[in-house]
Amino acid sequence: MTAAPLFDKIAVIGIGLIGSSIARAARKQGLARSIAVGDIREDHCAKALQLGLCETATTDLRQAVKGADLVLFCVPIGANAEVAEKTVPFLKAGAIVSDVGSVKQAVVRDIGPLLPEGVHFVPGHPIAGTEFSGPEAGFAELFQGRWCILTPPSGTDEAATAKLCAFWKGMGSLIEIMDPAHHDMVLAITSHLPHLIAYTIVGTATNLEESVKGEVIRYSASGFRDFTRIAASDPVMWRDVFLNNRDAVLEMLQRFTEDLTALQRAIRWGEGQVLEDLFTRTRAIRRGIIDAKQDS
Ligand code: NAP
Repeated sequence: MTAAPLFDKIAVIGIGLIGSSIARAARKQGLARSIAVGDIREDHCAKALQLGLCETATTDLRQAVKGADLVLFCVPIGANAEVAEKTVPFLKAGAIVSDVGSVKQAVVRDIGPLLPEGVHFVPGHPIAGTEFSGPEAGFAELFQGRWCILTPPSGTDEAATAKLCAFWKGMGSLIEIMDPAHHDMVLAITSHLPHLIAYTIVGTATNLEESVKGEVIRYSASGFRDFTRIAASDPVMWRDVFLNNRDAVLEMLQRFTEDLTALQRAIRWGEGQVLEDLFTRTRAIRRGIIDAKQDS
C-alpha cells in the first residue's frame, strides 16, 4: 500500500480484463480513495460491485466520470470516440484522461480533439494481458514487472504525465514514454503480427479435411497449442486493432512475407545452413526475453 492515495476518485470505463485488473491493482495498492465504474453492460456493472472492485458502477458513463481526477477508457479501440463524446461534457476541470488501447495513433486521433482545454490527455498502453475477457478475468498482479507505454502528445502538462507514471508504477509497471507512431510500429511486430499469424494458422487448421482435423487437436502439444491460446483472444478487440493500425501492420506483414518466401526457398533448395543460422539467431531472442524478465 502506498503512503497516500494518488487520486481521490478514479473512473474506469469498461470493466473487462484490463479495466478490472486496474481496479483490483489500484485498490490493493491504495492508489485511489474511490473507484467508479462505467460500462455499457448492466451485468458487468453488477459483477464489478459484487467483486468489490469499486464504490459505484453504472451504465450511465456521465455519472461515472463526474468528479473523477483520473478517467481511464478501457474499452475496445473502436468504442473510444463514442465513450469520449458521451463523457467529455461531464469531465472535471484538471482531470487526467487516459486509455489502455493497443493502438495509439488512432486513440490520439479519436479522443484528443474532443477534450477541452484544462483536461490533460495522456494515452497509455499496458503491455500485459491474457486471452480472457470480462470483469472476472482481471487480476491485481497483471501489470507487475510489465511495461506500460505512455504516449503524451507534445505540450502535455508534465505534472499530469508524472502523476499517471506514478499510478502505473504503483501497480507494478515499468514505464516508457514513446511517440504514438513509433509505438504502433513496434507493437505491429511484437504483438499484432503474431496474433495475425496465430489466427491464420488456427484458421488454416480448421479448414482442413475432417480426418486431419482430429489429429491437429490430439497432437496440438507439438506447437499448435501455443498458437490456439493466442488465437482465442477477444475477436472485437483484435478486429479493432487491425482496422486501426492498418499501415504499420501491412508494412510488417510485407516484410514477414518476404522473409517467409526466403525460408520457403531455403527449404526447397535444401539450404540447411540458412535454416540453422536463422533458428540460432531466434533462439538468442528468446533468451533475451527471459533475461529481461518478460517471461519465465
Ligand atoms: P474486455 O475484457 O472485452 O473489456 C471491455 C469492456 O468494455 C467490456 O465490459 C465491454 O462490454 C465494455 N464496452 C464495450 N464497448 C463499450 C462502450 N461503448 N461503452 C462502455 N463500455 C463498453 O476487453 P479488454 O481485453 O479489457 O480490452 C480493453 C482495451 O484494452 C482494448 O482497447 C485493448 O486494445 C486494450 N488492451 C487489451 C489487452 C489484452 O490482452 N486483452 C492488453 C493491453 C491492452 P462488452 O463485453 O459488451 O463488449
